Amino acid sequence: METKLHPETLCIQAGYSPKNGEPRQIPIVQSTTFKYDTSEDMGKLFDLEADGYFYSRLANPTCDAVAAKICALEGGTAAMLTGSGQAANFLAVFNIASCGDHIIASSAIYGGSFNLFSVTMKKMGLETTFIDPDCTEEELNAAFRPNTKAVFGETIANPALTVLDIEKFARAAHAHGVPLIVDNTFATPINCRPFQWGADIVTHSTTKYMDGHASAVGGAIVDSGSFDWTAYPDKFPGLCTPDDSYHGVTYTERFGLAGAFITKCTAQLMRDFGCIQSPQSAYLLNLGLESLPFRMKQHCANAQAVAEFLQSHEKVKWVKFAGLKGDKYYDLAQKYMPNGTCGVISFGLYGGRKAAETFMKHLKLGSIETHVADSHTCCLHPASSTHRQMTDAELDAAGVGADLIRLSCGLENAQDLIADIAQALDEV
Ligand SMILES: *Cc1c(COP(=O)(O)O)cnc(C)c1O
Repeated sequence: METKLHPETLCIQAGYSPKNGEPRQIPIVQSTTFKYDTSEDMGKLFDLEADGYFYSRLANPTCDAVAAKICALEGGTAAMLTGSGQAANFLAVFNIASCGDHIIASSAIYGGSFNLFSVTMKKMGLETTFIDPDCTEEELNAAFRPNTKAVFGETIANPALTVLDIEKFARAAHAHGVPLIVDNTFATPINCRPFQWGADIVTHSTTKYMDGHASAVGGAIVDSGSFDWTAYPDKFPGLCTPDDSYHGVTYTERFGLAGAFITKCTAQLMRDFGCIQSPQSAYLLNLGLESLPFRMKQHCANAQAVAEFLQSHEKVKWVKFAGLKGDKYYDLAQKYMPNGTCGVISFGLYGGRKAAETFMKHLKLGSIETHVADSHTCCLHPASSTHRQMTDAELDAAGVGADLIRLSCGLENAQDLIADIAQALDEV
């Protein structure tokens, strides 16, 4: 599919083109396995010498069609779906970094990713240095070590809502011969395409805006094809030297820079970890993608209206939303996401923790959920839910103060949302 087509067109057409008499919508290939006439035919698939499917733990046609659509939206060369955003970030990092290696990650990232890097991957022997995304280039450059294999950040951090200076991070990564991996979940490729700014790999929790209806957990990994692994063969032996588990294939030689990363990730990691997305979920994800550009516009417009209302309200102490003039990240957002950021706002009330709990109890349209970025407006008070084991001091250190309310604006009418918020504020 030509990538010069506009996102609205790609969201409908990319990834799947039915031939004469074939189904209009992407078929759900609900099959664990695929049938072949000869062992020789199947052998070629196992040797990665022929294209095709043999077992849905590694790859499935429904998943691949939807991955191809996301690939076109991001402007990448290859992509794959995973069972969750957590799996996408784990595989994207683990594909190039393992025991004895080191990565640098923005400290303002999703709690699940922070835990993955700081606890679970650490147990696997991979060390992470967390760095303030607003650090200077000098501080960023000083974090690199000889065994650093990747740099990781989020376009818009969940829930801190910081905006990543992608160019700054890409420059530092490339100066040290490693790729920049960007989790683009909150912005989506409708509002930001990190490859244009120098990112090399993009990941997604498709659970959020891409699915957009709170219906299916999933993830995706997209490769730009632009990072030259072969310039650093000692750093990336997994991509540049023969893989004994695949009859000595060298991924960069056989599949080129356009296909090496995703082919290795599928052939090795998906084979061994088995965290693929189900074809049913991929089908639901695809329905979400079809309307993504229109939904993002509405999410952003609703969030803008709600943020402006909150900012002008006497009971509201502070509001964070990169679309607000005067927000710390307004300028970065204008540069990287001139058409809008996302539908998520965070704010605090005078009266702190107690006021937050009272406010949320009285919301009628906005429901309390550990979720964001779907069609239904929802909110969360991390201090009394996801982060309730932390003291107030620990909450402040994590950038999630005891008063912080995270509000994800859905697709409802903005005036209805504002009226609901206003009546809940009256109760505080
Ligand atoms: C939710 C989220 C994840 C994790 O995704 P799951 O689909 O829940 O596994 C990763 N990154 C970001 C930015 C997220 O918001």
